[in-house]
Amino acid sequence: MPLVNTKEMFEKAYEGGYAIGAFNCNNMEIVQAITEAAKECNSPVILQVSAGARKYAKPIYLKKLVEAAVKDTNIPIALHLDHGADFEICKECIDSGFTSVMIDASSKSFEENIALTRKVVEYAHAHVPYVTVEAELGTLAGIEDDVNVAHGSESYTRPEDVEEFVRRTGCDSLAIAIGTSHGAYKFKPEQCTVDPKTGVLIPPPLRFDILEEISKRLPGFPIVLHGSSSVNQEYVKIINNNGGSLKDAVGVPEEQLRKAARSSVCKINIDSDLRLAMTAGIREHLNKHPDHFDPRQYIGDGRNYVKEVVKHKILNVLGSNDKI
Ligand SMILES: [Zn+2]
Repeated sequence: MPLVNTKEMFEKAYEGGYAIGAFNCNNMEIVQAITEAAKECNSPVILQVSAGARKYAKPIYLKKLVEAAVKDTNIPIALHLDHGADFEICKECIDSGFTSVMIDASSKSFEENIALTRKVVEYAHAHVPYVTVEAELGTLAGIEDDVNVAHGSESYTRPEDVEEFVRRTGCDSLAIAIGTSHGAYKFKPEQCTVDPKTGVLIPPPLRFDILEEISKRLPGFPIVLHGSSSVNQEYVKIINNNGGSLKDAVGVPEEQLRKAARSSVCKINIDSDLRLAMTAGIREHLNKHPDHFDPRQYIGDGRNYVKEVVKHKILNVLGSNDKI
């Protein structure tokens, strides 16, 4: 099976009341962990590549790793550009075989966002085979590679804008801002309440009222959530118990993402949870075995944890298992 775009994936996900996981990949172990987990769960999956990943691993390596995963697993995989900053990078990725791209012009004015998104859509849809385009309206707080928005500067997507935006751009899916956030520190402690039993921070709930209003205005249209790691405290604990120091790391509770996945949300982006799992595996291994120096041993443990997390997300959050 060759790489696929996200069109059919999203149509089925919308109908079936589940979401496809879009996981960021930066190296061989992460690509393997994600795709082997998806294979074992019989789930389609999106592998996404950010500007930071391209800088770190070089585009050609990532492309070849993903091709290897497609061959090895034979499941539907889309290769997606995460947060394309301009037309040129989207074009470069489309020309080099990506099956889906995101043009992120969300920091520009409404009219500029429409114009740039439209330009990418025209190029992507004229490509054979058809490349799907994700756009964004609204701004998320937090830090993800080259995307950095201070807490307090974020803005929710305005439901009254979405019909005009989708009609005029022709985009295939839309990322919206309803309170998710990039990174492992999604909310400031003062935005959260504290669970009296565990002392764990509980973040403010997602704005499901905005999501519902948008879904009503765009029936059948796939919605995307960025910044949707849950920052599982078990992994934070493993990291901190093995020499790490992550304080007040907090994510979006999984029940809320499960609820979103049942609605018009067809793609949920998860990156920080994989980073935490990889780091937990490596730290735990090196702390337990200070004499080890073979990278396969500790990176292998990191890979196992990432695989565990992806399986957990597919089965308990996304609901995309057994959908091939
Ligand atoms: Zn993002």
